[in-house]
Amino acid sequence: MEKLPELGYEYNALEPYIDELTMKIHHTKHHQTYIDKYNDAVKGTEFENIPAEDVLKDLRKVPKDIMGAVINNGGGLLNHNLFWTLLKKDVAMPDELKELLIENFGSVDNFKKEFTHAALTQFGSGWAWLVSDNGKLNVLKTPNQDNPTEDGFKILLALDVWEHAYYLLYQNRRNEYVENFFNVVNWDEVLRRFKE
Ligand code: MN
Repeated sequence: MEKLPELGYEYNALEPYIDELTMKIHHTKHHQTYIDKYNDAVKGTEFENIPAEDVLKDLRKVPKDIMGAVINNGGGLLNHNLFWTLLKKDVAMPDELKELLIENFGSVDNFKKEFTHAALTQFGSGWAWLVSDNGKLNVLKTPNQDNPTEDGFKILLALDVWEHAYYLLYQNRRNEYVENFFNVVNWDEVLRRFKE
């Protein structure tokens, strides 16, 4: 059984860039629903007491009738578990991370430009990612609740671009949401994940 993790900060901690009500609904309703539906799907199966992370890593034994629910809701639960840990307001980017971004993207601004492009061109719901491919950094996007771990990449940064992540404050203006997102990235955590 999977449980909703604590955010580790207040729902209003990311104001004014991500508003309190969005955070509250996103965490207690959307994330909770992924968890509930995932738990329902694996209930009474051999996967009930295996961490979702391990189940998602090896889907070969998952029966066809619950495969879709496991991928979508398991993906949703894991992506959000990660997303909350990557958010913190006013964290200065460590020099070591700046150097990495410059090395891989030419400049920090270029990295932001590429990441923004991925976030804005993800058609419909999905995620934008900064990943490490054996130390080489890359920007990706995926639809729905898919994530690049499946392809062997280590995720360093994630951005939820489902409308539920920004609609209350930004409505259709995904571009403003993405622009403001850079003010609430926990860059220390991004670097920690790279070095992990
Ligand atoms: Mn979400």
